[in-house]
Amino acid sequence: MARIGFIGLGNMGAPMALNLVRAGHALTVFDLTPDRTGKLVAEGAIASETPQGVAEGAEVIITMLPAGREVRAVYGGTGGLVEVAEPGALLIDCSTIDVATAREMAAAAAEAGIAMIDAPVSGGVGGAEAGTLTFMVGGTPDDVMRAQPILAAMGRSIVHAGEAGAGQAAKICNNMILGISMIGVAEAFVLAEKLGLSHQALFDIASASSGQCWSLTTYCPVPGPVPTSPANRGYAPGFTAAMMLKDLELARGAAEANGAHAELGAVAAALYRRFAEGGDAGVDFSGIIRMIRGA
Ligand code: NAD
Repeated sequence: MARIGFIGLGNMGAPMALNLVRAGHALTVFDLTPDRTGKLVAEGAIASETPQGVAEGAEVIITMLPAGREVRAVYGGTGGLVEVAEPGALLIDCSTIDVATAREMAAAAAEAGIAMIDAPVSGGVGGAEAGTLTFMVGGTPDDVMRAQPILAAMGRSIVHAGEAGAGQAAKICNNMILGISMIGVAEAFVLAEKLGLSHQALFDIASASSGQCWSLTTYCPVPGPVPTSPANRGYAPGFTAAMMLKDLELARGAAEANGAHAELGAVAAALYRRFAEGGDAGVDFSGIIRMIRGA
């Protein structure tokens, strides 16, 4: 069993860390909001008052932070993880952040002789609690192999996407497909309503035809055809519109910085911005159908 430090105990980090404790690992945890550590301490983790305390004696340090800004704050500079991690430690950032920051932090770690991989996840809070997350991992084959048994305590699928930053690249490309496809499916249902075609008829036909996709068959944005989709519970999240907007903005920024033409990705980001800024940031992202219907 490993000595693991865990920083960032929010909606995702707390249940991920709990699964590590329950798998028998020795955990030291830290969050800027100290009361986030309570449940973990009750299950056997040790709470630290500083990130540096987490790094002390840790063989592996995992972070699950909001965005690139927080990752830079925790990893970089004086007292950052890159500086204070034990020689031979493995740093695993599971946050969803921009590819450039992920590459920069990994390069800084490599320069200091510390191993670092990016391992963003999909599967949401439900997957974090159930230990069924998918990890998209960027780093050297050796480091990814070292991380494997640790990640396996929190997830079901671990995919090595390539070098440092490749996990983040895979995550934002996937979520750009998701954001665009959800808007496409929502527009099709609204058009069907105008044409007098029932939701069920469109679902039955499109799900067995070339319109088939995850946004339709697993996460259908109208109530009825897929009883487990958020549309059946008033669009309670799930995956919030704010999170989708964040990922679409990361994709848009990466497309611009790397000269990739992603016009639909930019339109999807603009639509999710309007939806989120209209007061629906905390609503499930499939709820964008309500804005499309009202437009
Ligand atoms: P969250 O806001 O619930 O949790 C983030 C935690 O980090 C908070 O507890 C906060 O206090 C802590 N924190 C912030 N800055 C810190 C610092 N400098 N030092 C220590 N702790 C700090 O967010 P979340 O929903 O847990 O998401 C975390 C990451 O996972 C994000 O990058 C998000 O995009 C990604 N993600 C989330 C989901 C989801 O469904 N929630 C799904 C996939 C990926």
